[in-house]
Amino acid sequence: MSYVYIKMYLNDPVLKLISKTAFENNTELYVIGGYVRDTILRRPTKDMDIVVVGSGIDFAKKLARAMGGKTSVSFYKSFGTAMLRYNGHEIEFVGARKESYRKESRKPIVESGSLDDDQKRRDFTINTLAVGLGRENYGQLLDPFNGMEDLKNRIIRTPLDPGITFSDDPLRMMRAIRFSAQLNFQIEKYTLKAIKDNRKRIEIISQERITDELNKIMQSEKPSTGFNHLDKAALLEIILPEVHAMKGVDVVEGKMHKDNFYHTIKVLDNLSKKSENIWLRWAALLHDVGKPRTKGYAESGWTFHGHDLAGAKMIPSIFRRLKLPLNEKMRYVQKIVQLHLRPISLSGEEITDSAVRRLLFDAGDLVDDLMTLCEADITSKNKETVRRHMNNFKQVRKKLQEIEEKDAVRNFQPPVTGDEIMETFGLPPGREVGIIKKAIKEAILDGVIRNDKEEARKFMMEKAKEMGIES
Ligand code: ATP
Ligand code: MG
Repeated sequence: MSYVYIKMYLNDPVLKLISKTAFENNTELYVIGGYVRDTILRRPTKDMDIVVVGSGIDFAKKLARAMGGKTSVSFYKSFGTAMLRYNGHEIEFVGARKESYRKESRKPIVESGSLDDDQKRRDFTINTLAVGLGRENYGQLLDPFNGMEDLKNRIIRTPLDPGITFSDDPLRMMRAIRFSAQLNFQIEKYTLKAIKDNRKRIEIISQERITDELNKIMQSEKPSTGFNHLDKAALLEIILPEVHAMKGVDVVEGKMHKDNFYHTIKVLDNLSKKSENIWLRWAALLHDVGKPRTKGYAESGWTFHGHDLAGAKMIPSIFRRLKLPLNEKMRYVQKIVQLHLRPISLSGEEITDSAVRRLLFDAGDLVDDLMTLCEADITSKNKETVRRHMNNFKQVRKKLQEIEEKDAVRNFQPPVTGDEIMETFGLPPGREVGIIKKAIKEAILDGVIRNDKEEARKFMMEKAKEMGIES
């Protein structure tokens, strides 16, 4: 048997330290999994997994001693692992193990084993790569499943029977799809088929873990890869039925609408080129989620009246089910979904100042993100159409800026407060104060008066008089 050595990848000084201690203690150990994969792919990586043939905890103790207290180690006895933090790394030491599964749980029964056993229990061939750090085998690649080949050909494949791999731990289905999106890899045919066959097993996985993987898909360079795979594996309808419902086209009298799922994931990709903001990306995925329930056919063609508001109303229940945060992040997504048609309605020939002011008022600080989404929402294949729409939005952005500089309504603070109104007219808190306050705000948004204290006070006096209130 010929051996491949990949010493050139072992540049991190911490590996030298680990291996020195291993030499001195005659310990057999390997760096394995994600660290090896990402180093070869030249992706940044922080966490490092070390498999020790023997006890991971004992070795970590020896290493910590050798490092002379320049590190902190935590021991997890029940897992047989130790975690050492060093120079920004999180290094996990674990004894080589063999695993077996029961049907109702993804938690395996664990016994100690050889390196070979340990590689067999891993999810994908590209995650089985191990590199020796011992005296005899420093830099030697152990690759029983041809992971290097799959890494080169950019393929996700399970080392053992994919059906058993996914049934044992169904989280691996999400991991496969997440890696395909993160790394831009293909999922091998039988592996993908096995995901589809085992999709119902996802039930035994906690929502938190599923959502964790969804968020990783969301943060990848081209999230559509992940959502396409979720769809192909029929996991989408289980995890995100509202998004799945956007699939398909109807035809009436020869007229069809676009497939809103494919449109959506294209929008998501477009947006992801412009923004890393994960919540804006969620808003892109969900911006048209109200379409299926508002779909109608009228003489002129397909309509989705009110899908913006219908979609916004769906956000809290989707977030709750997915265990996404129910705080300002959710409200942000909801607001973007609700407002996503507004800039489009502004981009006609005549943009009135008051319409622009109202958008600034309603969107506040979200207005820039909203514009970014609207620009990403242009998915036409016709270059001329794209150019025209982009140009329109350029005008809208310009107008938004002009009006904001002039009227400052983006984070509107009423120039006259409720207290001042009460004081001026000797009014108790109540309906009348509210009416005057609202009238002032409307007058500013409509451009009747400027966003200015003096003008607002004058307007207040007139409004009160009109209502029969004396100062
Ligand atoms: P990332 O750190 O980007 O999430 P990773 O592959 O490093 O990716 P980890 O969760 O850090 O993932 O796990 C480290 C290694 O442990 C993996 O490379 C893989 O070999 C193994 N592993 C992790 N989760 C599983 C699993 N569910 N089934 C089998 N092996 C797994
Ligand atoms: Mg990792």
